[in-house]
Amino acid sequence: MKIGVLALQGAFAEHQHAVERLGAETKQVRVRSDLCGVDALILPGGESTVQGRLLADASLTQHLRGEIEGGMPVFGTCAGLILLSKQIIDEESVYLGTMSAVVRRNAYGRQLGSFSVTSDMGAIKDFPMVFIRAPYIERVEGEAVALATVDGHIVAARERNMLATSFHPELTSDLRVHEYFLDMVRGIK
Ligand code: GLN
Repeated sequence: MKIGVLALQGAFAEHQHAVERLGAETKQVRVRSDLCGVDALILPGGESTVQGRLLADASLTQHLRGEIEGGMPVFGTCAGLILLSKQIIDEESVYLGTMSAVVRRNAYGRQLGSFSVTSDMGAIKDFPMVFIRAPYIERVEGEAVALATVDGHIVAARERNMLATSFHPELTSDLRVHEYFLDMVRGIK
């Protein structure tokens, strides 16, 4: 199994490390042809406005949207969740817009918005959730379901082949969320 990691900006190396520790191969994705032979894609945290612009500059936006709509498993963390969401509160445009989630950027404040809590994500109990100027999901729609909430706000969701978290599992040594995603890619979850 080979997992692509969008490597335009942000915390992509940490995702590669987590996936490789679980025994899967990874490949950095910067241009369309990098998607060849890749079974799934991770969209890392970083700065969604920058990533959105770089996606457009690389002519990747439409192409990725098509791949995701065609069923390619995708896992977005933090800025990656923002890229996936169909609506961003107080913003006019969206990026990939494939996931039925309404997201609020910098929902915990811009400067003091970094913290960690231990909480459950479905069957994954007591997961260390690291938030860095994180968004949260105001609501899910359609087929999207909330997988985790912290203080009444949705911080993880799934819609068919799409998984998204507000927090950064790649910044902890706990591999269970990445394992969940690899199980999605294998068709087990
Ligand atoms: N605040 C960033 C944004 O709006 C996301 C932060 C992150 O990915 N850690 O894009």
